[in-house]
Amino acid sequence: MITEVKDVVVSHIEISGVLVETRHWINGMWVDSPETFEDHSPIDGAHLANVSRGGASEVDQAVTAARNAFLLWSRTSAQERGAILHRIADLVEENNEELAQLETRDNGALLRSHRRGVMPRVAHNLRFFADWAINELHHPIIETRGHINAVSWDPSGVAALITPWNAPLMLATWKIAPALAAGDTVVLKPAEWSPLTANYFAELTQAAGLPDGVFNVVHGFGAEAGHALVGHPGISRISFTGSVPTAKLVAKAAADNLTPCSFELGGKSPTIIFDDADLDLAVTLAVEQFDNAGQVCLAGTRLLVHEDIAATFIDKFRERAKLIVQGDPREESTQIGPQIHSRQFDKIKGYVERARESGAKILLGGTPNTELGGLYFTPTLVSEALPGSEILTDEIFGPVLTLQSFSSDAEALELANGTEFGLAAVVVTGDKERAREFTQHLVAGTIWVNCFFVRDLAAPFGGSKKSGVGREGGTWSFDFYADVKNTVYAPNGWTSETNSESERNKHG
Ligand code: NAD
Repeated sequence: MITEVKDVVVSHIEISGVLVETRHWINGMWVDSPETFEDHSPIDGAHLANVSRGGASEVDQAVTAARNAFLLWSRTSAQERGAILHRIADLVEENNEELAQLETRDNGALLRSHRRGVMPRVAHNLRFFADWAINELHHPIIETRGHINAVSWDPSGVAALITPWNAPLMLATWKIAPALAAGDTVVLKPAEWSPLTANYFAELTQAAGLPDGVFNVVHGFGAEAGHALVGHPGISRISFTGSVPTAKLVAKAAADNLTPCSFELGGKSPTIIFDDADLDLAVTLAVEQFDNAGQVCLAGTRLLVHEDIAATFIDKFRERAKLIVQGDPREESTQIGPQIHSRQFDKIKGYVERARESGAKILLGGTPNTELGGLYFTPTLVSEALPGSEILTDEIFGPVLTLQSFSSDAEALELANGTEFGLAAVVVTGDKERAREFTQHLVAGTIWVNCFFVRDLAAPFGGSKKSGVGREGGTWSFDFYADVKNTVYAPNGWTSETNSESERNKHG
């Protein structure tokens, strides 16, 4: 579905049968820039679009629009805001196929997963945070010598949202939904390697009745549009998902205005497999770390395996991993598609080649997929890498797992905690007590025991150490996007007893 956009010339282009705009979305209108950048498909390198290349001027227009819209949106009730978010979710569901087709062509992730998992999750993000703002934002009474502390989550202003390419619309709406539900207005800067679904989504927000200026999209490169946005004095929050080096630049740009930042960053997470693990389960969970061609921040890419079962594990793992079907992500049978971009592809290849040259063993893959060509890299397992070497410590963000063995729980813990990251961990053991003891000392924002990727929006999500600052999910999201306020009501000073009582009932 493509809606009528009022008062503007609309020039959609067609991609995979879906009509989409390629300009910025500012104040409910499509806005041009003098320059554009090229967007290519990772599937086959096809040129998809020339997208408007924004900078300081477009960012300023978008922030101004968002600030103007804030006056009205921040005073709209949570119920009304929620009703609009639910209408957007309805439209996301109605346009599931179009969004899935567009996102797959743009970022090369699996079409079936976009259809059945990702786009339904986009709608869920919107519904979940809409309902949470209405039903769940309350705090237990704090009473201080008869005074009542009334805690509220007030809209904070304009939220600047910066997102990566590996799950573009899912990660964007994970931020957009709580920001809008909290009464903030939004300027989104999507990743330049996957900009398209943000524009399709923008039209859905208008069709759902979101007032102009409440949601804006500025396209462009990080160093230009992104940098201008995070340093803009008119924003009240920065929510950034991306890499550690970029987060440092964002933090520096935000420092002048002391703009609060939330950072969801990279990882080098361990998958720890104990000698009492269900080996089939362990192999299944380990092979899942290749999902999305390894372009998953949470992936447990460091396989740490007890030495007593390492040989058997490796045999079973290779057997299973060799069955992975790599190919065009639009095919139903495909399990792994291409890497997003030649820069990522070359980076992955470089890591594997250097590891091989320094004596590491390649137990699986280790090369580009020559049959498919293009940006397809084979699922790879590397063992016997030098302790502390880059392949064991750096985030690669590709289908490359490493294997190390351990002989005791203490050694497993030291290896698991031995990087600068702390995003996630997977623990596989048959012993609940061992799991309890071990996970107590693991440093990670999320730990999965005998499972992987079970996510609930009510639960906290975020990274420890260099993997992030802050947590998202449930009330944690609102603690960030809103201005949390405490209003203290005295028991005295009221013109009548009833007055005082009604205040106590209302706020207590
Ligand atoms: P990136 O840091 O290169 O870019 C992320 C975004 O930041 C892009 O939109 C980019 O244009 C923008 N950007 C770049 N320079 C900027 C600047 N100076 N100022 C403002 N914005 C700027 O990351 P990427 O390659 O797009 O994404 C991959 C990374 O994202 C990986 O490290 C991955 O682990 C991480 N990631 C983390 C999570 C999480 O939830 N923790 C989820 C997905 C991805």
